[in-house]
Amino acid sequence: MKHAGKYNRLYIHVPFCEAKCHYCAFYSIPDANDRLKDEYLKRLEMDFIAEARNCNELKSIYIGGGTPTVLGAERLKSLFYLIKTNFNISRNPEISIECNPETVDNERASIISGFANRVSMGAQSFNPRLREYLGRRGSVENIYSAFAMLMEKGIKNIGIDLIYAIPGQKYREWAEDLRMAAELGVKHISAYSLSIEEGSLLAVEKNAVKVSEELSADMWALTGDLLEDSGYKRYEISNYALPGFECMHNLEIWYGDTYLGCGPAASSYDGIKRWTHSPNINRWLDWKGTEQDIIEAEKRAGEIFIMGLRTVNGWDRNTFMERTGFDFMQWEDKFAPLKASGHLVYNNSSVSLPENGILLWDEISENFI
Ligand code: SF4
Repeated sequence: MKHAGKYNRLYIHVPFCEAKCHYCAFYSIPDANDRLKDEYLKRLEMDFIAEARNCNELKSIYIGGGTPTVLGAERLKSLFYLIKTNFNISRNPEISIECNPETVDNERASIISGFANRVSMGAQSFNPRLREYLGRRGSVENIYSAFAMLMEKGIKNIGIDLIYAIPGQKYREWAEDLRMAAELGVKHISAYSLSIEEGSLLAVEKNAVKVSEELSADMWALTGDLLEDSGYKRYEISNYALPGFECMHNLEIWYGDTYLGCGPAASSYDGIKRWTHSPNINRWLDWKGTEQDIIEAEKRAGEIFIMGLRTVNGWDRNTFMERTGFDFMQWEDKFAPLKASGHLVYNNSSVSLPENGILLWDEISENFI
């Protein structure tokens, strides 16, 4: 396998948030104290020192969470310094950081612009009623002011996350959110259907019931149509970008590239094995709880195959062979009925899902794992 052993990309999970959103099922610690944040950075540094030699020149870095900007200005500076001094970074890397708008101020925007060139903001909705339902902090004004501050500091590549299929959300309210996002001038929009996760406040306290699949599918179709009118193209089930502003870090990982993950709950993949740090910060700080997940090459090829099918372009046969060592035509007997029902398109050199297939990605992918 081509990449075995060396990581091309770096992911850092910052597990802190100001408070827990009602729908959240990610690993994040609300209201962590300064001592814990300092211990987190120290442990991260040890990981960087231990793992840097296992990395090629990094082509992309993605700092996600949680809410990385909750680290505050000084710790953000330290984090960037630790990355710069421990890793070799390629000449034109894509460096992304996630933030919540209400945690961006002039100082943080300036520090971010000194290191990152792409910011992904968790906006989720421009509608105050729906924001409250989701338990989002901050206000719609924070979205506009964070965007302006980041732009002013020279970050031109800004994206936002939005959520649809929220119980009680009207079709026209979703259209309005999309319109406001496009008018803001962001380069990238991730639009996720709300999933009501077991254990989240929405499930436990609000007894939330998921909206019908039909309405959710209609909202997904509307997303593609409305954003296309504003120049955005869907390039993955939930991701839309102006041409040239696709998130390369995520795209390459969907296409099976290697990545090092640092921080609690972060996964790594070196081309042969995948492993995940403990999702519990105390176990992670004690160096306990790493799970190795060594998968047979063919099974891993199946996983990489279905991840690539999430993208609108799907797979080129040569690229798939180069990345996995397998030929996707080995699954031709599974392709044929999907092609007959109009849910998959393939020929001798490529395979992809048409729009009605992408929407059924969950079910279709079961054929290949
Ligand atoms: S900001 Fe994101 S990670 Fe933090 S609680 Fe909200 S949804 Fe979860």
